[in-house]
Amino acid sequence: MADKLYSNRIFSFLLLWLIVTNQSWAQKEEFKDIVLLNSYHPTFKWTVDITRGVLNEFSNPSEYRVFVEYMDSKRFQNEAYLKQLSRIYLQKYSNTTIDGVIISDNNAFDFFLNYGDKIWGDVPVAFCGNNSILEYKNLDTTRFKGVKEQINIDSTINIIKSLQPELEELIVISDSTNSGEIFSNQFKKAASSHPDLNYSFLIARTPDQLKTDLKRRCSKNKAIYLLSLYIDREGFPREMLQEAPLILNNCYVPIYSNWDFLFGDFITGGLVIRGKDQGEKAAKIMKDLINGRQVPPWLSENREILAFDYKQLNKAGLNYSGLKGEAVLLNKPENPFEKYKQELLGVASVLSFMLITILALLRVINQKKIAEEQLKQSESRLEMALEGANEGLWDLDFTNYDVFLSQRFARLLKYSNPNELNIGFTNYENLFHPSDFPQMMEAYEMHKTGHSPLFHSEARMLTKTGHYIWFSIHGKIIETDENHEPVRMVGTITQIQSQKEFENKLKEAKERAEESDRLKSAFLANMSHEIRTPMNAILGFTDLIMNDMITPEEGKKYLEVIKSSGENLLNIINDIIDISKIESGQLKIKQETFDLHSLLGELQDISENLIFQGRKPIEIIVHKGSENKNFFIKTDPFRLHQILLNLLTNAIKFTKTGHIELGYIILDKGALQFFVKDTGQGIAPKHRNIIFERFRQVDETSIRKFGGTGLGLAITKSLISMMKGNIWLDSEVNKGSKFYFSLPCEFKLKEPDIPASY
Ligand code: ADP
Repeated sequence: MADKLYSNRIFSFLLLWLIVTNQSWAQKEEFKDIVLLNSYHPTFKWTVDITRGVLNEFSNPSEYRVFVEYMDSKRFQNEAYLKQLSRIYLQKYSNTTIDGVIISDNNAFDFFLNYGDKIWGDVPVAFCGNNSILEYKNLDTTRFKGVKEQINIDSTINIIKSLQPELEELIVISDSTNSGEIFSNQFKKAASSHPDLNYSFLIARTPDQLKTDLKRRCSKNKAIYLLSLYIDREGFPREMLQEAPLILNNCYVPIYSNWDFLFGDFITGGLVIRGKDQGEKAAKIMKDLINGRQVPPWLSENREILAFDYKQLNKAGLNYSGLKGEAVLLNKPENPFEKYKQELLGVASVLSFMLITILALLRVINQKKIAEEQLKQSESRLEMALEGANEGLWDLDFTNYDVFLSQRFARLLKYSNPNELNIGFTNYENLFHPSDFPQMMEAYEMHKTGHSPLFHSEARMLTKTGHYIWFSIHGKIIETDENHEPVRMVGTITQIQSQKEFENKLKEAKERAEESDRLKSAFLANMSHEIRTPMNAILGFTDLIMNDMITPEEGKKYLEVIKSSGENLLNIINDIIDISKIESGQLKIKQETFDLHSLLGELQDISENLIFQGRKPIEIIVHKGSENKNFFIKTDPFRLHQILLNLLTNAIKFTKTGHIELGYIILDKGALQFFVKDTGQGIAPKHRNIIFERFRQVDETSIRKFGGTGLGLAITKSLISMMKGNIWLDSEVNKGSKFYFSLPCEFKLKEPDIPASY
């Protein structure tokens, strides 16, 4: 029992829910339904324009739905038809709730008054196109609101008069339709205030009648006022515009009217009203009505437009200058520019835009080109500058450990390109000489820590050929991070090998000069001793000789000592004079032809005498390169004698026993090679070069032992060099020395130019 009660409750609930939801489904959607009831047919221009005006206003389909009806009552006018029509509409709208009805023209208005409420209910009504609205008695003006269809005949007559001041007669064409009669009455009323206007009515019934009447009454200086023209043509009237030829072919005078739909190669113009304006106004009124807005006057004024057909005005030869400004000129042939003004303006603006864009692009391209050109120029200038300065460029990126080296950099190290050099952050140390690397890194640290504004170092760098070359390295850190760590560093390398070599030579020269200075001091010290010794001997023995107590033998002995000391002194002085002359460039080499063999013989004698004096067991051997007894040569005999004597003196001095060889051989190309060989103490290899230097002796103490100035070989070498020859030696310590020198000279087998005196 309880179960049954429960299930009944559920059923009732479901039923209620269904009713509620069904009700909400049945609710009308949120748009309004409007009926436009036209008096006439859908091909009638006036009706078409009104409909267009109404539909324009209700163009939003989500808000309004418009049902357009055409009663076609201009063509079908009988009560039975209208009654039947009312039944059809009743049936048609039986299930539709209509929110308002718009009525266009008189017939529809009358129809609505008869059947409207029954068909659509007590809905608000907006009307237009009703030219006799004021004649309705007891009209509910709270429900019926609309726009006048009031044509302004009075003003139109004024305009006609101003356009055609010579007007003889105005032919007023009308018809016997309801509207025709209304307009005719309106005309008569308006014309009554123009007593000067000569007009006559032509009520059109049939085409022929109209034609005949027109022909009969038409003449120049007349005009037509067209009020209405619906002639019965086998039961139906035609459009007024379709009757245009009927008038134009029979009476060609200006035609005035008040309907805008008559424009188009027909009427000339007038103060016209437009069907579209009527429709729009009626629709606006309807909108206000159904949306509950106030519509203050129940009857709104209609809009009038003074409009003329440009072609017709000109055809009729009317002076319309007085109308300009206030009248709309239709049918005016547009000049091509006017006609396509919008398009032309569009095209012009597109072209202008394109032109501006192209110009802007060209400018950008040009600027880019100039910038590229400038960049190229500065790059090539930089390149040329680097080339000219023989500098290689390096650029280090510490963020990605990227090393950029210029082509020139690679070429300076004899590589063809930087890739071949293949240097990066990990292996750059290999590029530098190990001795130079630490001081280079020190210079980098100084720069990095801000102690020097630029990085500069000199270091030897390894070339592809495996040699080190000196480079000057400059650089600068151009970017650092927030921790002041370098981000980017750039710089150059410049080859300074020759500069370094020059510097080294200068250094050596300086050292040599210092050494020479040192040697000169030593020389002077030695010389003073050397000079003093013979001088002391000379003076001491001179004193002894001056003593009366000495025997003649003793005196002779003393004199010999004095002589030998004097000779020694002379030798020293000669050497000093010679070296001074050589150094100051005053020593001149003479060219004389003399007997070489006799010079060698003389030297042999001197040498033997010296050996004898030194009491040494040494033998002198002379080698002659030529067996010819009269072997003459052309060179400086005095200096050759000096050279050979110096070599022989040294040989005797540094040889205790054995033999000394003196001689020459004949070389090709007009040169002789002399030699002096001994079996003495020899000269160690390390001393072989220095003995030719000034004031140099192998052992500076030897001067005490052997005497000499240390200038002999220096003078010898200088003399040989001045005579375009060369000197060299070959020696073995404790075995002996061999001195050789070459001497370019002419050989002559004839008498000498002058007698020899060495
Ligand atoms: P000096 O006039 O002092 O001999 P030199 O210029 O002639 O000066 O010689 C320089 C030095 O060369 C000598 O002091 C000697 O040490 C060495 N010297 C020259 N000739 C010989 C030689 N034949 N044998 C060994 N030493 C020599």
